[in-house]
Amino acid sequence: MPTEPGPAPKVIPPKLNPVRVEIPEEPADARVQDFREVLHAYSKEDAILEAKRCIQCRRPWCVEACPIDQDAREYIRLIAADDFNGAAKVTLRDDPLSNCLCKVCYHYCEDACVVKKKGVPIAIRHLKRAAMDFGDTDLAYVPSAPKGQRVAVVGGGPAGMMAAWELGIRGYPVTVFEQEKLLGGLMQTIPSYRMTDDDVKADRARFKDLDVTFITDTKVGIEFPPEALLEQGYQAVLLSIGTSLPRVLELPGEELPGVVPALAMLRRVHAGETVSLGREIVVIGGGDVAMDAVRTALRLSSGGHVTLAYRRSRAEMPADPEEIHEAEQEGIRFLYQKAPVRILGSGRIEGIVLESMELGPPDAGGRRSPHPIPGSEETILCDTLIVAVGQKADLRGFGPGLDLKVTSQGWPEGKLPGFGTAVPGVFAAGGRSVVYAMGAATEAARAIDAYLSQKRGETTGPRPDPFGGDQPFKLPAGYTTPIRVK
Ligand SMILES: Cc1cc2nc3c(=O)[nH]c(=O)nc-3n(C[C@H](O)[C@H](O)[C@H](O)COP(=O)(O)OP(=O)(O)OC[C@H]3O[C@@H](n4cnc5c(N)ncnc54)[C@H](O)[C@@H]3O)c2cc1C
Ligand code: SF4
Repeated sequence: MPTEPGPAPKVIPPKLNPVRVEIPEEPADARVQDFREVLHAYSKEDAILEAKRCIQCRRPWCVEACPIDQDAREYIRLIAADDFNGAAKVTLRDDPLSNCLCKVCYHYCEDACVVKKKGVPIAIRHLKRAAMDFGDTDLAYVPSAPKGQRVAVVGGGPAGMMAAWELGIRGYPVTVFEQEKLLGGLMQTIPSYRMTDDDVKADRARFKDLDVTFITDTKVGIEFPPEALLEQGYQAVLLSIGTSLPRVLELPGEELPGVVPALAMLRRVHAGETVSLGREIVVIGGGDVAMDAVRTALRLSSGGHVTLAYRRSRAEMPADPEEIHEAEQEGIRFLYQKAPVRILGSGRIEGIVLESMELGPPDAGGRRSPHPIPGSEETILCDTLIVAVGQKADLRGFGPGLDLKVTSQGWPEGKLPGFGTAVPGVFAAGGRSVVYAMGAATEAARAIDAYLSQKRGETTGPRPDPFGGDQPFKLPAGYTTPIRVK
C-alpha cells in the first residue's frame, strides 16, 4: 500500500555572517609616499573564509547585476571548497579581462549581494583576485570553426578587447585598430596604486590562439574613415572609441602654465613619465577621474597640499565611495559646494576664485542642481590647477551618416538594437565603467554575429565554450532578470 508523503523538510536558511574578512590595505601615511599598491591580496585562507560567508542564493543577485553575467556565485562556491583552479576557470570563462577587473571593477555585484541587507556584502571582486592569484590562469582561449568574415574593431579599450574576444571565440578574424601605443583605453590612466599595464598584458596574452590582430598607433577617422574599412573587405565594424578628449572649464586663464587636464596628467604618470606638479594643488571635479587626480597629485607633490573643489555635496559625488574614502584617509582637503569662477595669474597660475553654491531641487538626472550664492567668492592660492570635469568622444571623421547617440557621460553608441548605427554593418558601443563597456561590447558583438550569420544563411547561437569544450554559454540556475545600473 502506498504511504502518504510526509511533510516537506523545513529548509533552514544559513545564517548570514555580516562581517567581511578584512581586505589588507597599505597604511595611508606610508602609501602616499609613492605609487605602491593600496589594497593587498587575501591570503588563501582568508579567501576561503570570506567565500564561506556566501549563502549561495538560489536567485544569484550578484550575477544578475553583472553587465557581463559573470558567474560569481560559482567561483565563490569553488573558492569556499578550496578549488582555486576551478574558480579561475569559471572566472576566465565569462571574463577575458579578469586581471584588470579583479583590481578596478566597480563591483555592481556587491551592491546587489543579499548580505548587504544585514552587513558588508561578500568581497566578490577581491575573491576574483584570489581566484587569479591562487588558481591556474595559464589557460588559452580556443576559437570555434573559422567563419572567414573579417571584422574591424576601432578602439582597443575594454569594449574593443571584449568584442574582439567574443567574436574571436565565435571564429571570426578580428583586427583591432588602436590610436595609442598601448591597449587598454582609459585603463591606461588608472594609477598604478590600483592597477598596471601588466594586468592588461596578462589578459591580452590569453588571446594568443584567437585570430585577433591588434594594430596600435593607428587612428581611424579623418584620413582613414571607418567606411573605408568596409571597402577594404571587413564585413562589419565596431566603433568602441570611448571618450579620449577632456572637457574644459571654459574659464579665462585656462591656457596658463600650471593648468593641467587630469586625463593627460594621469596618462603620463601611468606610462612612467616624470611629471612635475607644484606643492599647492587644486583639483576641480567630483568623479572617479577627480579621485585619481587628487591622489596622484598628492603623491607627486613632495609633501604639498591637495584640495578638491566640487560644486555639489558629498552625497551627490559621482565618484566610487571606496575611492572617496581612500582619498579622505590620505589627507586630501575636500571643499564641497564650491565652483570655479576665475583663474588668477600672469605668466603662470597663481590662484583660483571659487564661489559657494546652494543646492536646489533635483535635476533630470536626479541630483540636486547647484546655484551660485551671490557675494560668496573666495580665492585659493595655488601653483597647479588640475581640471577633472569629464571627458568626451573624439568624433572627428565619424560622420553624421552614422547617426550616433552620445550618452550623458559622453560615450558614442549606435541607436539601433545591438548598438547598430544607421550604416548597415557598423556598430558603436562602450561605456562609463570597465565592466559596463564590456557588457555593451558583448551585446554589440552578438549583434554583429547575428548580422554576419544571416549573411551566411545561418542562425546565431550562444557563445561557444571559450576553452573548446562542448557546453556553450548558459545563464546560471535561478537567474531571473538582469539588474542593471542606470
Ligand atoms: C582616471 C580614470 C579612472 C577610472 N577608474 C575606473 C575604475 O576604477 N573602474 C572602472 O570600472 N572604470 C574606471 N574608469 C572608467 C573606464 O576606464 C572606462 O569606462 C572604460 O575604459 C571605457 O571603455 P571603452 O572601451 O568604452 O572606452 P575607452 O577606454 O575610452 O577606450 C577607447 C579606445 O579607443 C581608442 N580610440 C579612440 N578613437 C580612436 C580612433 N579614431 N582610432 C583608433 N583608436 C581610437 C582610444 O585611444 C582608446 O584606447 C576610469 C576612467 C578614468 C579616466
Ligand atoms: S548575492 Fe551574495 S550571498 Fe548571494 S550568491 Fe551572490 S555573493 Fe553569494
